[in-house]
Amino acid sequence: MNGDALPQGAVPDSATPNGAQPPADGAQPPTPSAPTSQGAQPEPTPPALRLLAVHAHPDDESSKGAATMAKYVAEGVDVLVATLTGGERGDILNPHLQDDPDLPARMPEVRRAEMAAAAEALGVRYQFMGFVDSGFPQGDPPPPLPEDAFAAIPAAVAAEPLAALIRTFRPHVVTTYDPSGGYPHPDHVHTHAVTVEAIEQAADAERTPPGQRAYAVPKVYYDHGFSRERSMRLHEALVERGLDSPFEQWLERDATRKRRLADPTTRIDVADYFDQRDAALRAHASQIDPDGFFFAVPREVERIVWPWEEFELAHSTVPVETPETDLFAGLR
Ligand SMILES: [Zn+2]
Repeated sequence: MNGDALPQGAVPDSATPNGAQPPADGAQPPTPSAPTSQGAQPEPTPPALRLLAVHAHPDDESSKGAATMAKYVAEGVDVLVATLTGGERGDILNPHLQDDPDLPARMPEVRRAEMAAAAEALGVRYQFMGFVDSGFPQGDPPPPLPEDAFAAIPAAVAAEPLAALIRTFRPHVVTTYDPSGGYPHPDHVHTHAVTVEAIEQAADAERTPPGQRAYAVPKVYYDHGFSRERSMRLHEALVERGLDSPFEQWLERDATRKRRLADPTTRIDVADYFDQRDAALRAHASQIDPDGFFFAVPREVERIVWPWEEFELAHSTVPVETPETDLFAGLR
């Protein structure tokens, strides 16, 4: 299952907004490159900042931090999404597609095509890390994980390809899920553990294979996309305007959930990038109902009430002051 592990699916440079950036497997260190020789020198351009967003399945990048990625792409940041699994066991969540009898058999290829379209909408590059979706075991107690499942692979092993990617791409910022996974899917919980392990392995010279250079990620964040505060504020705003709120049930369910209650530290203003986020969400047509939850808040309301995406700073090697409004604060 790990056979085709290393990364396929990286979009060609033509789909990269800053096509001059090196591909992930040949990324350069975050230091200014040596000046070229001959003739009048152009002003040296500062080295591009790099952001690596780690996600469990194709579609997660579009529902967690997507507008933030689009914003940084617009600023010239090199943004790479690492998607740990192929999403092969995802249910078809779009009622418009549930009558397609061939779709389940074609899921792996469908989800790859959807990922390509979403990445294009956001302007990001992406790599599949080659693991197999664990599925969301239903039942009490839940059935055991399938043998080939990503979540059944020890984090130290599953982290190796991601550690190699970190050593080559050398991101200034990595985003991932908090220890709860943000959502109790086994792949989401495991994504946290695997990302943390990969960051440690990447920085450890003794665990760095010949031919790679160890690399310590300066800043690590957890996604905070579905905060209770956001849901409550949007819910109240919809009710005030006499509109239907999709958050009523969500808030009830959320109240019973065991969640980590850490506060976000970093709020990014992304209202100008909602359209790109929505286009990326719609690209995952098998997973996202275009009439469903993600599109239930009129964007003009969202822009006024909650124009942000939020993150929690989990680790920093540079001095920072929170709250922040920029993932790269302290690194520019
Ligand atoms: Zn997911």
